[in-house]
Amino acid sequence: MSAQTADFQDLFRRVQPAEGGREVFDPATGESVGRAPEASVEDLDAAVARAKAAQPGWAARSDQQRSQLLHSAADAIETHAEGLARLLSQEQGKPLNGPNARFEVGACVAWLRATAEFTLEPEVLVDDDSGKAVLHWRPLGVVGAIGPWNWPMMISIWQLAPSLRQGNTVVIKPSGYTPLSVLALVEVLNTALPQEVLIAVPGRGEVGDRLSRHPDVAKIMFTGSTATGRSIIKAAADTVKRLTMELGGNDAGIVLEDADPEAIAEDLFWGAFINTGQTCAALKRLYVPEPLYDQVCQALVEVAKNMPMGVGLEEQNVLGPLQNKAQWEIVDRLVTAAKDSGARVLIGAEPERNTAGYFYPTTLIADIDPQNPLVVEEQFGPALPIIKYTDLDQAIEWANSLTEALGSSVWSSNPDRAEEVASRLVAGTTWINKHGAIDPRVPFGGARESGFGLEFGLEGLKEVSQPHIISQ
Ligand code: NDP
Repeated sequence: MSAQTADFQDLFRRVQPAEGGREVFDPATGESVGRAPEASVEDLDAAVARAKAAQPGWAARSDQQRSQLLHSAADAIETHAEGLARLLSQEQGKPLNGPNARFEVGACVAWLRATAEFTLEPEVLVDDDSGKAVLHWRPLGVVGAIGPWNWPMMISIWQLAPSLRQGNTVVIKPSGYTPLSVLALVEVLNTALPQEVLIAVPGRGEVGDRLSRHPDVAKIMFTGSTATGRSIIKAAADTVKRLTMELGGNDAGIVLEDADPEAIAEDLFWGAFINTGQTCAALKRLYVPEPLYDQVCQALVEVAKNMPMGVGLEEQNVLGPLQNKAQWEIVDRLVTAAKDSGARVLIGAEPERNTAGYFYPTTLIADIDPQNPLVVEEQFGPALPIIKYTDLDQAIEWANSLTEALGSSVWSSNPDRAEEVASRLVAGTTWINKHGAIDPRVPFGGARESGFGLEFGLEGLKEVSQPHIISQ
């Protein structure tokens, strides 16, 4: 064990209860990862009270000080990066390598540093003979952050970094599936941050529900399923909370006839299979024109065959298990429905059952009906349906036909043509010749039932600020 990992182990011991709590298991092996404390609704109330008391002092610090403290928090993550990545791998299941655990911890650092560098200046709206009006961005107060299990550390940073940057304090409720990753991350961040500006409260849905109703919480940042998002919107109504909702996606990718199948295959693969398909803005249905269909299918099979799946801590793996049994069952149900409909399995679709880990093999399904459940429902796992089209207008109509509209992509060798098709897609983001590529400088959010509100960049800072106009 390296010195760095030994330091991390001390820190990890601190986040686990001395006794009691709930045992958390590695989804790849079924082995114990550690024990998570279980907070009650009363614990949540106490945490909000502490965060509320700390907020004025935090907001009173200079903008430069808060920026500097976010950089110090990023330094702390770098110090413990390997320990955090190994814990994340064990609890979430994602491998250390590939676009997975080490990548996620690296992204936490990158997003913290980028957010530390953004500054939301007051905007002079009017300054003439008629008078002067200036828009200021004030803190909201206490921000509640509720996160999922797929990218638990990175999404926590997306929620907490802009909130802290703008002078809010944060109470964060991790997913019940991945509490230890978030608790450890918060413990690391709190080695750099002042006391009580960031508090993690591990508990189940009722703790999230209380956070969404709490009169002293000004805003909820939520990432998770659309169903839970609806509950939170209702719960937040009584206190008119501000909301940022990053909900489910069922992203379409459209390949155009002028694309080069060999050249795009690996990017298509990772667009779909990043984090073993458990990503809100992953490519979840691929539309391919008839003349290129067989070539694209074959090129994807060649890539898929060479991507090892297995236990996260084994260095060669780049794909892992599903994080939990419920998600495994969703993927299995949808792939079975596709097979039963007569769709053609290119690779995968034969999972080993009754094993310790929730592994589902990398699956590509061709010749599938555009209305098949595997196409129109979010699979959130390693199974991609590839739909043939003969008419581009029809493909665009299919792409735009769902209530989810988070991301989408167009694949082409002709940038102008790709942009023209992109402009006809309904989504928060449409990528060209890539999918799911996010950047802390570029705002990200959903359309339709994939949610509302923007994260990242200056737009992300505005979401966690109260606009205040002074007019004279
Ligand atoms: P959920 O939406 O159920 O959970 C997300 C978070 O909300 C968790 O922290 C959960 O806590 C919390 N929560 C649950 N109920 C409430 C409530 N009533 N009020 C406030 N907070 C609540 O997602 P799941 O993890 O169950 O995943 C289900 C589906 O969601 C997946 O199949 C996938 O389709 C989608 N999903 C989408 C993600 C995305 O990035 N857009 C991420 C993860 C999932 P707890 O876990 O303790 O119940």
